[in-house]
Amino acid sequence: MKLGIFGGTFNPPHKGHVTAVKECIVRLKLDHVLVIPDALPPHKEIAEGSPDGRERLKLTKIAFERVKGCSVSDMEIARGGVSYTVDTLRRLREKYKNDRLFLLMGADMFLCFEQWREFEAILSMATLAVFARRDGEREELYRMAERLRLAYGANVKLVEFDAVEVSSTRIRELLPRRKGVEYFPAGVYSEIVKKRLYGAKPDYGWLRQKAYAMLEPKRVAHVKGCEEEAVRLAERWGADVEKAREAAILHDITKKEKLDEQLRLCAKYGIELDEVERTEGKLLHSKTGAGIAKYEFGCDDEVYGAIFWHTTGKENMALLEKVIYMADYIEPNRDFDGVERLRRLAYTDLDRALEMGFEMSIDDMVSRGIQPHDRTLGALDWISHH
Ligand code: ATP
Repeated sequence: MKLGIFGGTFNPPHKGHVTAVKECIVRLKLDHVLVIPDALPPHKEIAEGSPDGRERLKLTKIAFERVKGCSVSDMEIARGGVSYTVDTLRRLREKYKNDRLFLLMGADMFLCFEQWREFEAILSMATLAVFARRDGEREELYRMAERLRLAYGANVKLVEFDAVEVSSTRIRELLPRRKGVEYFPAGVYSEIVKKRLYGAKPDYGWLRQKAYAMLEPKRVAHVKGCEEEAVRLAERWGADVEKAREAAILHDITKKEKLDEQLRLCAKYGIELDEVERTEGKLLHSKTGAGIAKYEFGCDDEVYGAIFWHTTGKENMALLEKVIYMADYIEPNRDFDGVERLRRLAYTDLDRALEMGFEMSIDDMVSRGIQPHDRTLGALDWISHH
């Protein structure tokens, strides 16, 4: 068997890593590749604030789960300490006695190969399979390969393909700026956003795509309008514009779900319900939407609150909660008697606009024979004395 071994920190894993493995499998006709995230890399410091080894292992598994002929090993993370390749190779040599081992590495690793611990022992156990990470690197790789061959009798194969020009370092810079999504294999980005690893904040385009996929198509225009309005209101009243955008994009993501699904989501996210809510699915979507925003999209408590209270309102609403409640009410697609007045008021006196909004929705419910929720009655009482 021809077995490839691909070590790295994978902090985080990206398309550059996955492409390299896929290309090596094809071009070297490898039967299998073991991807091995290290516990502590010998050559560099792990960036501050990085997730721990278990988390990197999980991300790496997600990154490679769709690559045929490849598996992710926890052997270095389980071993702990500094992960020297020579130790890993000795174990694998022992286990795969009759197989040919290929140690896969990019140019950066190869060019400092003579600094690796016991590099000559490594050369005696494996062929180095080396690839460029960017254009213009190949000449240097050829020279280095020739030198290692002459000096140590090294077996080096240069693998030619167009690499994805990116590094984990670059990605760690991009993630907090809502960028970098295009460098990730499916699933990795979602996991990073969900846990807000690396200080990641979701790319708005990605977040919209996810949110709209959960809506009935007819509701997309409303959510777009709500986002626009929420941003305008947040700017007008000094609320956090980014949080307003996240909350608006996600506020209706469970709107189409039926009561049984709503109840399942409430149980999943530990959301407690009162009597009315247990039987009225419409009131639940704000709570379950908030649950998904927090636990699946990593939104913070302010965004959670803004989504959670966007249907009923409540006493003592925070600024972001007011902004989302109002944006939902007056976004450009809304059309009802009094909407223009309410729109004007929302930009001159937000609290009076809320008061008017609560009154209108209570009146509307009463006229339709629906009992207004206690929270909304409480919200009206609070805001009218505010
Ligand atoms: P960092 O930027 O944190 O140094 P990295 O992107 O170089 O990280 P590592 O996990 O250190 O990623 O790399 C593991 C292996 O993958 C190394 O052999 C490295 O050369 C290779 N590699 C990394 N990025 C690419 C890429 N874009 N294309 C091909 N190989 C890559």
